[in-house]
Amino acid sequence: VRDKDYYYLISPADYGGSTEFALTYQSAVPLVVGQIVVVPLGKKQSLGVVTAEAKQPAFPTREAEAIAGMPALPEHLVQLAEWLAGYYVASPTAVWQTMLPTGLTKKRRLPGPATSHFESKRTNHQLTPEQAAALAQIQKGESTGYLLHGITGSGKTELYVRLAAAELARGHSVIVLVPEITLTPQLIATFESHFGDIVIATHSKLTEAERHRAWLEAAQSEVPRIIIGPRSSLFLPVKKLGLIVVDECHETSYKQEQSPRYHAVVVAARLAHLAGAKLVLGSATPGLTELYWASHGRLQLLRLDKRTNDQALPDSSIIDLRDKALRTRNQFLSDPLLATLDETLRDGRQALLFINRRGSASSQICTDCGTVSLCPNCTLPLTFHADHLQLICHYCNFRRAPVAVCESCGSTNLRYLGGGTKRIEAEVARLYPSARLARLDRDSLTPGYLTEVYKGLHDGTIDILIGTQMIAKGLDLPNLDMVGIVSADTMLHLPDFSASERTFGLLTQVSGRAGRGDRAGKVVIQTYTPDHPVIKAAALHDYDSFAASELAERRLLAYPPYVFLLKLSCSMATSAAAESKAASLAASLKLLPGLVILGPAPAFMERSGDKFVWQIIVKAKGRQELVAVASKLPSGWTADLDPLNLL
Ligand code: ADP
Ligand code: ZN
Ligand code: ZN
Repeated sequence: VRDKDYYYLISPADYGGSTEFALTYQSAVPLVVGQIVVVPLGKKQSLGVVTAEAKQPAFPTREAEAIAGMPALPEHLVQLAEWLAGYYVASPTAVWQTMLPTGLTKKRRLPGPATSHFESKRTNHQLTPEQAAALAQIQKGESTGYLLHGITGSGKTELYVRLAAAELARGHSVIVLVPEITLTPQLIATFESHFGDIVIATHSKLTEAERHRAWLEAAQSEVPRIIIGPRSSLFLPVKKLGLIVVDECHETSYKQEQSPRYHAVVVAARLAHLAGAKLVLGSATPGLTELYWASHGRLQLLRLDKRTNDQALPDSSIIDLRDKALRTRNQFLSDPLLATLDETLRDGRQALLFINRRGSASSQICTDCGTVSLCPNCTLPLTFHADHLQLICHYCNFRRAPVAVCESCGSTNLRYLGGGTKRIEAEVARLYPSARLARLDRDSLTPGYLTEVYKGLHDGTIDILIGTQMIAKGLDLPNLDMVGIVSADTMLHLPDFSASERTFGLLTQVSGRAGRGDRAGKVVIQTYTPDHPVIKAAALHDYDSFAASELAERRLLAYPPYVFLLKLSCSMATSAAAESKAASLAASLKLLPGLVILGPAPAFMERSGDKFVWQIIVKAKGRQELVAVASKLPSGWTADLDPLNLL
């Protein structure tokens, strides 16, 4: 016989069946909000998180069990979880699987306690006037969110370090988000050299045990900590959170591509609000959405327009690949690019050759005039499907056979964009037999190899680095004089509303690797479309005019940030089955007011394993209308709210 029972709302954490965010349970002992407990659900047991106290309901309730020694979540994370489930239309299970480490009930040995006394082992730079002004502005605290728009090499990292030190000094923890893998080694090394063992660094390749240990370390720490890692680091249970930094906030790896399909910048803003922390978004090429927020007063814009070494941004030249007279030495690498490379190697300096593989062999392009086959309805590039031998529009499903003759100039020299890192590596090895090469792409990547390449670059035992997106960011090498962009076109002609934004960002980032030491950098951009405004703006480092014209275009064509998007996908055993399933949903969506329906059309990668994927794009002025659609979907559909691309 018990004197009293306690009642709580508890969110089931590892049981797929529940759609309610939290259910009522009783407990023989008092529990706290954020406590992780065991609850019965149907015939199973599930972990659960206490979200609120409750009154005794009219119906009978089952009993929750406390788990001895289990740390509780801070209240702001409980609120964040509930918000995530609603905002991204996700089940509590999907949310908690993202937020909590797996194997929570396993016993693990923790590393020793971190010491609170940190000392800077690194020489502190005297801040540049621009850095000092930005720091003062953030510390004045007129806003809770800041967009730090600083060109490559302007010393954003140094600012993050100063801001973090100030938070630690007042007893608050800091989260620094970095994009996947590439950037992490250098930024972590910088923070560790300043702050030692109070840094908790995570990355996406951690084992279950390592992830759990990082979580426990954050939850149980007696001293404020600095968390550095990818988007999931937002969910580490630090108690007093004072600052969230999102470095390279324009990066697409901040979006999770499985449920909950959240964007870390949006979640960071929400978390900062819930925890009363400051938010600093840093980028050399802020996303148009973040820029739009800043221009509407939701973020304060701070700019760093000078490099800390007083060098100008590198000199960029655009090479027209249509001009065959410029390609006498090699089919892929133009004479001007090779001349710059000759010079760089002769001076004993380093070069980086960038190849973008994404979307290779997709668009059909005329190698004489640069014309790309476009959809007559959507003016977006048509995608070549080898299996159907057709060019297909991925928005409206317009189809036609590939052309044999260019519609603009009558040339028959048409090809599909392509070419990969291995091929370029082989060509470079043949042209420069004594140069020391390294290649970084998804095929060559292992954590050990990455460290080895970084070391080789720093020690000067690598002359030429060849790679994909992976090498575009974060590298800060004083001897890197030259960047060659082998083809700027592959990503530009992806059939997607954000292709220009991503191309501009990537060209700017990769160009920004050059000229960070004592010499001016040089960038050579090869392209079939040298007059394209995005390529011209990138070569001139002109973010402002790029952003202005791209925002005007987005407004005109009704794309984000002016409307909200929902991408719906279904996959079926045959293309015809997927098409008819999609057609029936599209027909019912068209009856709803206030929505614009595009498609159905096959996905950019129509074949996924042995399935065929079709999609429907829904546009609306208000996000709530899309949330309503996403929460009432028939089975077999996945919904992506605020997708970064429509591929
Ligand atoms: P960003 O992240 O903006 O591209 P970094 O933070 O990598 O730039 O800084 C570029 C380089 O400038 C780094 O090598 C950094 O150590 C150096 N640096 C940063 N601040 C200063 C400063 N105030 N004076 C001199 N060098 C600086
Ligand atoms: Zn042509
Ligand atoms: Zn179309």
